[in-house]
Amino acid sequence: MAELSDTITFLGTAGARFVVVRQFLASGGAWLNLGNTQILLDPGPGSLVQAAKRKLDATKLDAIILSHRHLDHSGDINIMIEAMTDGGTKKRGTVFAPADALNQDPVILSYLRSYPQNIQVLTEGGSYTINDVSFATPVKHKHPVETYGFIFQTPRHTFSWIIDTRYFEDLANHYEGDLLVINVVRLNPGAPIDHLSLPEAKQIIEKLKPRIAILTHFGMTMWRAKPWELAKKLTEETGITVIAARDGLKFDLAQLDTP
Ligand SMILES: [Zn+2]
Repeated sequence: MAELSDTITFLGTAGARFVVVRQFLASGGAWLNLGNTQILLDPGPGSLVQAAKRKLDATKLDAIILSHRHLDHSGDINIMIEAMTDGGTKKRGTVFAPADALNQDPVILSYLRSYPQNIQVLTEGGSYTINDVSFATPVKHKHPVETYGFIFQTPRHTFSWIIDTRYFEDLANHYEGDLLVINVVRLNPGAPIDHLSLPEAKQIIEKLKPRIAILTHFGMTMWRAKPWELAKKLTEETGITVIAARDGLKFDLAQLDTP
């Protein structure tokens, strides 16, 4: 029997409107293949196309998780729910989303809601399971809509993903794990202030001390500054391996296991 692995495939690394609407970078979210569990996180515009292009079969998804309702995260959520349920013909899978993605002015269409097996509402301090994977939403982020980051736990690894937020004291303390994925929209602090900047990401990495940190969700200022060069510099400055995600990157968490 093949040994089980945990991988993250980046179906996009674009953050914020400017990069997304021009598709300088793709915006399809991430595909988490955790043992036998397939999870799609934040299916932004182009998620279906990006998944198909990388031979990831959306009809095999076990869950779709939405961190928040902004379009760069949710643009393809309806078509991905339809895909997960094989066009609505198979009642399967779970959708996780904050309440404001489901209630007023919902980004998840009403007529699709009976397709998945289950729709679960994310709340601050919540924990959830999908097969043998569990994940937690430890703290409500400071963002214009209800937003959560995640701590994922598989039988093999623990990792965190810090989604869009304004920096706040204590943010890092809510997260843990050998791997940290972090959405870094801005090169420097400033407008739009509801997103993390590179110096703030550095502070978080230094506090959390993961084995590896991956930067993603780049706005224009980050992209222009060449994220791979910024990651190299952060690695030198922090002593922690920092990687810049790129569209299509498949990161194998086995990289965390080597001493
Ligand atoms: Zn956002």
